[in-house]
Amino acid sequence: MTLEPAEGDVPYHPLYINGEWCDAQEERRFLVTEPATGEPLARVAQASHADVDRAVAAARHAFDKGPWPHTPHYERAHIIHQLAQLVQERSSELAELESRDGGVPIRKTTFNDIPLGLHMIHVFGELARRSPYEPLPWNDFPTVSWNFVWRDPFGVCAQIIPWNYAFCMAVWKIFPALATGNTVVFKPSSLAPLSAIELVRIIDESGLLPRGTVNLITGPGGDVGEYLVGHPKIDKVAFTGSTEVGRKIMGIAAPHIKKVTLELGGKSPSIILPDADLDKAIDGVLFGMFYHAGQLCEAGTRCFVPNSMYDEVIERLVHRTRQLRVGDPLDLATDIGPLISFKQRDTVERYIALGREEGANVVIGGGRPIGEEYERGPFVEPTIFANVKNRSRLAQEEIFGPVFAIIRYDEIGDAIEMANDSIYGLAASVWSEDIQQAIEVAKRLRTGTVGINEHHVLNPYAPFGGHKESGIGREMGVAGMLEYTEPKHIHVDFQRHRSGKIWWDALLPPLDEEA
Ligand code: NAD
Repeated sequence: MTLEPAEGDVPYHPLYINGEWCDAQEERRFLVTEPATGEPLARVAQASHADVDRAVAAARHAFDKGPWPHTPHYERAHIIHQLAQLVQERSSELAELESRDGGVPIRKTTFNDIPLGLHMIHVFGELARRSPYEPLPWNDFPTVSWNFVWRDPFGVCAQIIPWNYAFCMAVWKIFPALATGNTVVFKPSSLAPLSAIELVRIIDESGLLPRGTVNLITGPGGDVGEYLVGHPKIDKVAFTGSTEVGRKIMGIAAPHIKKVTLELGGKSPSIILPDADLDKAIDGVLFGMFYHAGQLCEAGTRCFVPNSMYDEVIERLVHRTRQLRVGDPLDLATDIGPLISFKQRDTVERYIALGREEGANVVIGGGRPIGEEYERGPFVEPTIFANVKNRSRLAQEEIFGPVFAIIRYDEIGDAIEMANDSIYGLAASVWSEDIQQAIEVAKRLRTGTVGINEHHVLNPYAPFGGHKESGIGREMGVAGMLEYTEPKHIHVDFQRHRSGKIWWDALLPPLDEEA
């Protein structure tokens, strides 16, 4: 990994503004550490408001005066595919960096996160090839005309991402914006910013984008993030993070009527139907729940199980969970790494205590794994609660950790009702061998994504986003790309004679000689 210049024994990452790597104006820096060990990984520039101003001015200039918004769509597509090629060459470094920075098991980053991010870049390149021209149906009222919609880029986009899935998050923010001709001021989370910074470094080294098209600022969300969102020269805000911060962002964006897309929290249900193949469903719902220690927005944290098979399902979940290995994220044998921070572990442990107080019972886990290798990081055992009530806080609030709530149901209709009884509506999965029945259930779930016999179904061709308080708008797919455009109706009128125009009847009196 070529992270220059190095400061002390860890690399230092400046800001990236107008095509230059530069220190923050006040020369402040913050330290990024490995969650698993607490070891320092890098120092990162901490932007001030003045730096945000500079980054926004650079993106504004690149949009208002630069070539990118007017670069033909097929050329933008070509550049995006070239960038994908450069990312591919660095895949294994990126996977290791993402594992160290986010505490993500190396099997996940190597076989899922980086290849998925790469696939997404190519798909955005492919979608960028679509012409921004959309013909409209023939319309001869009031006169014969040719009508079409032209898709303008939005302008300068503020993009803020969380620490989890950081590389994919960076990809699915930056590339659809570029594909549609926008310019960007991008801010990763201070907890795990490194793979996103590395992506910006790849973009910079490619020399393929005009100066100021992509700008990077780093620093605390409550300060520079908030200032960026409220900046009057920003046209659109694309935010991924918690529902709590999303609410704030909507408020900050409101005075300027900024366009906002929000990808927020979740409490996604997995519904096991009575005819499910349990060999598949048990492992599937555990994958839905414990992938990345439950630190995924669409994690299937509530599992609905028919009363008739409840005891068997609990027994089998416990058996398979016992086989999950918690440990060093860089070890290929590890299934579950640490949480992102000790603060997050406190939150998770508070919810485990709350679950007990609410009367649910822990059937496995509930504590910290014991051993020297767990002493330096915020590890928590994968934990399953049985006999959870759907109205309890354990089942209603996003925990963002490895805490699984198993809820009984009698009739499928009850399961659907409880699954929908949540402020969130991000994702769901339905486990059944009767696909027709599973589709009927999927149609009744108020969530943006439903996997049938699968969870974590991120597909770059499909729209991803949430109903209810899980967000506004969509990312990925054509719908996600269109969120970065303003539709403009262009009407070309074919009526050649003034007297045939609508004016004649509707407003202007005939000319004297024509009367
Ligand atoms: P967070 O909301 O604390 O922070 C997200 C980002 O916002 C970070 O970059 C942070 O620095 C910044 N931020 C914080 N306060 C801000 C403010 N007042 N103004 C502007 N920016 C601010 O979330 P997190 O802990 O980093 O991530 C976990 C959350 O993200 C979970 O709730 C998870 O469900 C959600 N998430 C959602 C999706 C999705 O696609 N729906 C994907 C991943 C994560």
